[in-house]
Amino acid sequence: MKIIDGRSLASEIKSEIKHEVKKFINGGGKVPHLAAVLVGENPASQAYVRNKIKSCEKVGFESTLIRKSENISEDELLAIIDKLNNNDDVDGFIVQLPLPKHIDESKVTLSIDPKKDVDGFHPVNIGRMALGLPCYLPATPNGILTILERYNIKTSGKNIVVIGRSNIVGTPISILLSRNTKLGNGTVTLTHSRTADLVSEVQRADIIIAAIGIPEFISADMVKEGAVIIDVGINRVEDENAPKGYKLVGDVDFDEVAAKASYITPVPGGVGQMTVTSLLQNTLKAARKEVYG
Ligand code: NAD
Repeated sequence: MKIIDGRSLASEIKSEIKHEVKKFINGGGKVPHLAAVLVGENPASQAYVRNKIKSCEKVGFESTLIRKSENISEDELLAIIDKLNNNDDVDGFIVQLPLPKHIDESKVTLSIDPKKDVDGFHPVNIGRMALGLPCYLPATPNGILTILERYNIKTSGKNIVVIGRSNIVGTPISILLSRNTKLGNGTVTLTHSRTADLVSEVQRADIIIAAIGIPEFISADMVKEGAVIIDVGINRVEDENAPKGYKLVGDVDFDEVAAKASYITPVPGGVGQMTVTSLLQNTLKAARKEVYG
């Protein structure tokens, strides 16, 4: 059994991006510039955005953080997005989700110019992804593909079971892994809360991708000997012994399942580490005008 080291893979990829940025600038290119819009005081969102901005510095990008209070109106936010869409110096930008309840998230996503949508959430990018056209891939599915590629895990002809059908993880990864590409060609089953016999579906899987949001939901009896386990879940569970009173666990019962798996991603330190590197990769693509010319 091999534990996939998301931290070291992410740091390796960041070094590669840093090198690419230098090459691009030396060749006359501009410094890639990522902007992030953060609304409100959600501690998790603040931490994610901080990490994104810090990572920009590490790889030699310019970054801009636009912070707005919880009370910002939808129109004011849409006006900020319009400015970013039209600012030639900004190559790509993200609006950190979730947004306050009075703001329509899908309206916000739709208002972002697909050329600058480095989160890969706009329907134009999702549609291009589904058709195999150049696009910005959504971060977590892209991170999963990078893990499979760098660990040389074959997907062609494999039974791949994805659990969870969210727009940001389950649905896009199921499309990507089923397409006729180097990292695709899997026989993908997309399962969810209405799946009739989830256990037997999962038991058939050579590769399991768990994106459910239920702590340690996947137990050893659901897993075939030698399966590859990609655990996307990030769940807080109470832990008296932890300094913050909680710890993070995945959707997979790591200790039980690791004993049967050929490869497994830990939580934390697995898929989550790859999210920011995907965002940086997309921003570099945007600066180089690789997707939309
Ligand atoms: P979500 O929360 O939007 O949806 C959960 C999905 O799980 C749904 O499609 C639902 O049908 C399915 N589901 C719920 N109960 C089920 C059951 N009993 N059996 C089978 N399927 C069931 O999904 P999400 O936004 O993809 O998040 C899933 C988890 O991944 C969460 O823990 C989230 O924090 C984590 N996440 C991690 C990253 C990362 O970078 N590692 C990124 C995004 C989400």
